[in-house]
Amino acid sequence: MPLPPQALTVLVVEDHAPLREQIAGLLRGAGHRVDEASDGRIGLSLALQSPPDVLVLDLGLPGLGGLSLCRQLRERATQPVPVLMLTARDTLPDKLEGFEAGADDYLVKPFAAEELLARVTALSRRAGAGRDYRLQVGELAIDRRSHEAWREGRRLVLPPTAFAVLLRLAEAWPRALTRSELIRRLWDDDPPESDPLRTHLYQLRQQLDRPFAWPMLETVHGVGLRLRAEPPKKDGP
Ligand code: CA
Repeated sequence: MPLPPQALTVLVVEDHAPLREQIAGLLRGAGHRVDEASDGRIGLSLALQSPPDVLVLDLGLPGLGGLSLCRQLRERATQPVPVLMLTARDTLPDKLEGFEAGADDYLVKPFAAEELLARVTALSRRAGAGRDYRLQVGELAIDRRSHEAWREGRRLVLPPTAFAVLLRLAEAWPRALTRSELIRRLWDDDPPESDPLRTHLYQLRQQLDRPFAWPMLETVHGVGLRLRAEPPKKDGP
């Protein structure tokens, strides 16, 4: 049977069999694929061999404790694995230690089924958003992490606000943003001056459009601004 599109691979490392089976059953019931381990060492090697979308990890485990597993996973994994740590010890020092070891979230036993499912989904979504840091619109590429942008492979040298304008437009693409929408997304309800976009749009055009054959930044009359992924069509044959 094909898995639903939002199906995740979840590895559950928990030595208490009834709890492990309960968690695995919950996740499977929600359409996710589940691997199980009852021992920390086995859990670590499974997580390294085929990194799951989310690791649900008990703290007290035979073989290798949850904190050590988490630390080793952080050091050795070839890709980030979001970790939801399960613990009965609801004390601040334990939590801090868990986050220090590399846990992304915490759940204190006993917990509600819905909460476990919600946190697993949220963790995978957060991780997915992290992986999706590159945006592409036609020949324009944007790296959200490094705050860099390129057109046809040529790096655009943009001040921070001009970059932010470009990023908002790329996120909205292929839709146009009205000027007031753009201003709100950049400064909330508190723009710094009466015509706050003017300078930044000028700076953006200098880098994004001026050196190239056709402009990507397009003014849509009566609507606002939009990025164009293809050159405008020429009139006539
Ligand atoms: Ca345990």
